[in-house]
Amino acid sequence: MLESNKTLSDLASDARSNLKSTFGVDSTLVAAAPGRVNLIGEHIDYCDGFVLPLAIERYVVIAARPNDSSTARIGSTGLDPIELDLSDRQEIGTPKWSNYLRGVIQGFLDLNYAIPGFDAFIVSSVPLGAGLSSSAALECCFATLLEGLVDTVLPTADKALLAQKAEHDYARVPCGIMDQFTSTFGVKDHLILIDCRSGEPEMVPFPDPSLSIIVANTDVSHDLSDGGYGERRKDTEDGLGLIAKESWRDVTMNDVYAKRDEMGDRIFRRSRHVVTEIARTMEAVEAFKTGDFSNIGTLMAGSHRSLRDDFEVSCDELDLMVGLAKEIGFEGGVLGARMTGGGFGGSTVTLCRTANTDAIATQMHERYQEETGIKPLLFATRPGIGAHLI
Ligand code: ADP
Ligand code: MG
Repeated sequence: MLESNKTLSDLASDARSNLKSTFGVDSTLVAAAPGRVNLIGEHIDYCDGFVLPLAIERYVVIAARPNDSSTARIGSTGLDPIELDLSDRQEIGTPKWSNYLRGVIQGFLDLNYAIPGFDAFIVSSVPLGAGLSSSAALECCFATLLEGLVDTVLPTADKALLAQKAEHDYARVPCGIMDQFTSTFGVKDHLILIDCRSGEPEMVPFPDPSLSIIVANTDVSHDLSDGGYGERRKDTEDGLGLIAKESWRDVTMNDVYAKRDEMGDRIFRRSRHVVTEIARTMEAVEAFKTGDFSNIGTLMAGSHRSLRDDFEVSCDELDLMVGLAKEIGFEGGVLGARMTGGGFGGSTVTLCRTANTDAIATQMHERYQEETGIKPLLFATRPGIGAHLI
């Protein structure tokens, strides 16, 4: 069962009509920004590695109108509207979701913009907490709305960094730059290769409409995720320390083997994941650049195995979902599948033939539900469009 993606114009209509019914006004501005999914390059963003995400055709959309005051009144589907004073420094507050917005407002105040009061309503087709970065979509959409309200256009990277700072300082999530870069830089028919050492994004063409990505949300999230992330980061720092090099980018498998005894089994396996995942990601980029996908299934499967066995961030549900895609196989239109995101739950990505997406998703859905009793969310996507005013 493939869930269809609402079009941007339907989402914009929803946001406009909610603005009208909540605050009684018609919008003068509508902003949109996508969620994202990472195709390959997992848990190496904090190791100077590469990530290869794409914006998904799932968006946060905000409709707004200035209100001749110094206050923002903001609603979001299913939540009580909030009021924020725009004339003063933003403090962390309640409800929790308001902090993403407070952080973005503060980013504009730091740049010395005076933000006029406004009413706004937020709608979204990015599932929350599924590892698809609804939080970055919210920040980047809201930052784009504020650009419109103060009549400016920030350089794209600056806007992404402003949104990331909001997530760091106000939501207290120490995220890398992938989510906000993807939500702002997203371009139709392109993947985004981010070099996490230089912080530079590079667009990688993904023009062939006969290929799509199925995102499958396992709808589980295991408690391990908080501590697990910090522990993995620490393990990679320890590994690099033993190898005594500046950056993982300069490390080869020979370096890792040379320190195997000193590392012990766990740090050895963590280190092997980092070095091999960087290599797999570079190979995958070659595949997308040349259009030769003969190797892509092996690379995605290798990434999944490495995350499961060496980095130990997968879980039964992710392994099951990836296994179901693999069972369908090349004849059924599946080119490759792997877990995506931080792990311990969340979503998988399956690269597949567009013509087969319905049949693939139906089979994955049915079999996953049989095995787990959970109804997973599955949708197909091509690269979406980065943050913009509609
Ligand atoms: P993810 O970014 O992977 O979806 P997070 O936990 O980082 O998961 O972010 C989810 C949080 O972002 C939600 O709990 C909520 O606070 C906020 N959020 C995301 N989308 C919206 C929205 N449309 N309206 C209000 N808050 C939202
Ligand atoms: Mg998030």
